[in-house]
Amino acid sequence: MINQSQLKESMRNIFFELISDIATTSYVQLLNQVSIQLQDLLNVPYVAIYSYNHWEQTYNRVTGDRHNELRKQLVEGVPIDNYFNRNIHDLKTRTQFLHAKTEPNAFLFLAYHQNDDRFNKETLDIIKEELKNVLNIFNYDKMSKEKEERNAFLFEITTKFYSVFSKKSILTEITKAMDKWYPNFNYHILLSQDYEEETSLPIRTIEYSDDATKRVSTQAFITGEVQLEDRLKDKKTCLYAPLKGKQGVYGVLQIVTPNSVDFPQKEIEFIGQFATVAGKAIESATLYQNSKHLVEDLKLINDATHALNSNLKIVEITTIVREKIIEACGATQVGFIYTGETQHHMINVLSGSTNYFFTSSGEESANFIFNQVMTTKEPIISGNYTINETDFSFPSLMAIPMLHAGTIHGVLIIIKQTKYAFSFDNFKLMQSLVQHYTLALTNSILNEKLKVVAITDYLTQLYSRSHLEEEIQMHLKRDEKGTLIVIDIDDFKGINDTFGHHIGDEVIIQVASIVRAHTSDNDVPARWGGEELAIYLSNATIDEGVHIATQIRKQAENFTNPKVTLSCGVATWDYTKKVNAKELFVRADKALYAAKKTGKNCVVKEIIEMRIRN
Ligand code: GH3
Ligand code: MG
Ligand code: MG
Repeated sequence: MINQSQLKESMRNIFFELISDIATTSYVQLLNQVSIQLQDLLNVPYVAIYSYNHWEQTYNRVTGDRHNELRKQLVEGVPIDNYFNRNIHDLKTRTQFLHAKTEPNAFLFLAYHQNDDRFNKETLDIIKEELKNVLNIFNYDKMSKEKEERNAFLFEITTKFYSVFSKKSILTEITKAMDKWYPNFNYHILLSQDYEEETSLPIRTIEYSDDATKRVSTQAFITGEVQLEDRLKDKKTCLYAPLKGKQGVYGVLQIVTPNSVDFPQKEIEFIGQFATVAGKAIESATLYQNSKHLVEDLKLINDATHALNSNLKIVEITTIVREKIIEACGATQVGFIYTGETQHHMINVLSGSTNYFFTSSGEESANFIFNQVMTTKEPIISGNYTINETDFSFPSLMAIPMLHAGTIHGVLIIIKQTKYAFSFDNFKLMQSLVQHYTLALTNSILNEKLKVVAITDYLTQLYSRSHLEEEIQMHLKRDEKGTLIVIDIDDFKGINDTFGHHIGDEVIIQVASIVRAHTSDNDVPARWGGEELAIYLSNATIDEGVHIATQIRKQAENFTNPKVTLSCGVATWDYTKKVNAKELFVRADKALYAAKKTGKNCVVKEIIEMRIRN
């Protein structure tokens, strides 16, 4: 027989010693010592302690490594339910659940010889009671050590998070922490689309679909609260912890257990705390990256406006902006679709756009997108854009109207082959860039129009006299020869007097169109002044000049109404004798004077002196 008070006393002594080592001994070592010392004290062949594993929902043997062979015979392959009080060979087994106040619960497994009659109910109760008390102490210690460890971890990870400013490093730290704390669980980081793709990490895009299984993650994202989900179909439990900062939720940490479990409150709290720490870190990294982007964006806009302000040609402006767009958002194709103020249905792909827009399918797509913007008067951003019944293969699209003085003058189209390639920040930046572009473009178009006006005669639409002079000066420097024709309408005063000034103007216009019809792109037909016109024929000989002048004269005679005739003087130059523009005019004018003298309605060429080539 065992003396029960002595047993109690001895057990307490053993446990007291173990408790005094509690700070330096692990939980499993403590329980192992309990089982070894209890076995020695009770002098039985086998003692083991089984502790409850919450995740696996089974009792696992944590001690009892002694007597391996015996253990195998006793318990290997035996379901827990069958541990209760069996007789195996000459051994009796006893299982005593300890009903600890705190987790994890445990039971004692004891084997003694059949003929050992010491273990009556009272004795077993004492053993159980004393074990339960010590288990409570160990459990409490385990719990506070774990809490301490977790707090230390949270502190350490917070410090670490504040030293890194890249989202990728933070996401990597999250995965490391998950691997450390929950090595047997599957997990994903669910993020909204705006995050750059990082294939090496278990990142998934958060979905807003109506699918019931996905709603829980969305709930976590929307409410900012931890959500639990028991998935009936695959018998798994999911925990969704929002990655929450001060200003919003940045994603959701999804943890999936291998089998259905009841998540202990302390785990939910820990994961929730960890996710919040991570969420705040993502927030500050996002803010940091945003401010960096903002600075970069400002720099881009600044560079662009600087370049755009330097009075460039349309194609130069367009090329600068195209390059900035490709640099800022990695676009594959950029199209500048322009219509101007009025012809809203005729699209014009500006040079400087990328090559796709000059193909027929590119132009068709541009037309479609352009019309959509014109109809809605709204810009488009899409990550999944399609055009019905076409093979348009650029799902990422930004289409931004070029607004000037309240009217849409065109549309900037930015596209890429991959889906969801453009961020909202890209979109905002592009909208700002388009404003600068449109202003520079309209300025440049105005400028080019002004230049044309400056060199064009208002009445005849031929070149102005000043432009003719400039052109002649330029040709004199560049060419080997050239010929100038001056034309004067005969007796024009009479036309004015007879038909009025207005009809006089009409006649000048008629003569101008005959002149234009006889000149090529290289020639410079101009209004010399009043009812006098002139043509500079580049690289033409005097005979070619006379020929053209004669044709013009004949046409005027036959086709003007009221009929007028023309007198023409022709002068020429070549490289053998340097002349200046003024001399050439004087000589042509002399010839014209001769034509008037000889009775008008004729062509006279200057008298060419003999020139000696030097
Ligand atoms: P000539 O055969 O000697 O050239 O006789 P003309 O009558 O044409 O004489 P002249 O060339 O000296 O006079 C040109 C006239 O053309 C003078 C002016 O009243 C008229 N004229 C000049 N510019 C214009 C114009 O823009 N419109 C009109 N309707 N008349 C003009
Ligand atoms: Mg005249
Ligand atoms: Mg005249």
